[in-house]
Amino acid sequence: MPTVQFTCSDCAQTIEVNDEMRETILATGCPVCTTAASEGDFGDE
Ligand SMILES: [Zn+2]
Repeated sequence: MPTVQFTCSDCAQTIEVNDEMRETILATGCPVCTTAASEGDFGDE
């Protein structure tokens, strides 16, 4: 399963996520600080 790197724009936490987690973070925000996430916070590697 492909993964992408999520980097929180607020707390700078970097997490490797799969597509399902990506959708969850987009819906609910950063899992660490709950700041809203956007598409631009995700990238390969
Ligand atoms: Zn955060």
